[in-house]
Amino acid sequence: MVMDTTLSIPDTLSFDAAERHSVVIVGAGPAGYTAALYAARANLAPVVFQGLQPGGQLVTTTDVENFPGFPGGILGPDLMMKFEDQAREFGADLRYGTVTHVDFSQRPFRLVVDETTPILADAVIVSTGASAKYLGLPNEKRLLGRGVSACATCDGAFFRNQALAIVGGGDTAAEEALFLTRFASKVYLIHRRGELRASKIMAERVMVHDKIEPIWNTEVVDVLGENGVEGLRLRNVETGDERDLDVNGFFVAIGHQPNTSVFKGHLEMDAQGYLSTRPGSTYTSIEGVFACGDVQDHVYRQAITAAGTGCMAAIDAERWLAEHGEIDGVRTETDYHAAPPEASTAQTNVAEVSKAVPEAP
Ligand SMILES: Cc1cc2nc3c(=O)[nH]c(=O)nc-3n(C[C@H](O)[C@H](O)[C@H](O)COP(=O)(O)OP(=O)(O)OC[C@H]3O[C@@H](n4cnc5c(N)ncnc54)[C@H](O)[C@@H]3O)c2cc1C
Repeated sequence: MVMDTTLSIPDTLSFDAAERHSVVIVGAGPAGYTAALYAARANLAPVVFQGLQPGGQLVTTTDVENFPGFPGGILGPDLMMKFEDQAREFGADLRYGTVTHVDFSQRPFRLVVDETTPILADAVIVSTGASAKYLGLPNEKRLLGRGVSACATCDGAFFRNQALAIVGGGDTAAEEALFLTRFASKVYLIHRRGELRASKIMAERVMVHDKIEPIWNTEVVDVLGENGVEGLRLRNVETGDERDLDVNGFFVAIGHQPNTSVFKGHLEMDAQGYLSTRPGSTYTSIEGVFACGDVQDHVYRQAITAAGTGCMAAIDAERWLAEHGEIDGVRTETDYHAAPPEASTAQTNVAEVSKAVPEAP
């Protein structure tokens, strides 16, 4: 691993008076909130730094129909509010703030929030998610969740018997185009080049599908529509000619960017920047640092899988702290909130006893 020194903790920042917590969770989407719920119920008093998007990716969407337990669906922001309330109910400490630097080379681990606040942690759970890449078109973000989507699995079923367009040329675009044919009457696959970058087998499946029509050497100039997608403006990259295409939905399949720049050089990751975890667990390359949700998953990328791995991360962290914490002397220094149940009871008793003893004159 090559350390990115631009992200090293500045020498001038002192950790002498830093808060110390048993479990610090970085990120507040389905994975982070679920990890917080489990860690809070395990009496680990987790602190969650929520970053710039408390609630995560689902706060940018409307209907979520595939999260179990909500027949009839639920709005993305409402679902995330429920996650947040449930984590808070059990005592998770949810805070605003973005983790800007980390140092996992020593224990307790060191984190810096918003460039200035030092935090010490006995265990860290990383749940910073991944961001879908968009084209940056003038009306793309405005119509996000209203016909523009970056997730066919999530939103394809909303477009039964309608014409759709998808942009991209790799395996994901090919896979998502094929998935969309289950619902759509027609799927236009728009690509800047004259052929797909996707693997041969995926490209062949796309090319023979009677509902998919490739539009080659073409880029999308803008998304059209007031309250929903009504069409796309396209430009042929060879001739410069522009034309409009009537569609009711527009899927962007040009990749995802895992939010891991702050962990570069500190945790192992793959070529795309997804954190590496030990198979069947949430253990990262550093003992005591765990990863869950989309930040370590380029395959499923769903709220339910993120929540599932969030649960795993909290259980992994709890067991790891139980096995290693005391050996390292970590538990002895943790703050009052992280103290095991017996210690909390003892504190209450001390308080009660001292109330009963009359004060010296
Ligand atoms: C438009 C859209 C619609 C979708 N619809 C569905 C759907 O219908 N069903 C479904 O199952 N899935 C859907 N998904 C996918 C789903 O949203 C993701 O799989 C899920 O949100 C991943 O959860 P996560 O907790 O791993 O990360 P995220 O939800 O991405 O959350 C990441 C969190 O990390 C925080 N963060 C990032 N960096 C830092 C940092 N340095 N410090 C502190 N915090 C940080 C962010 O602020 C955020 O709170 C959709 C995604 C999109 C974009």
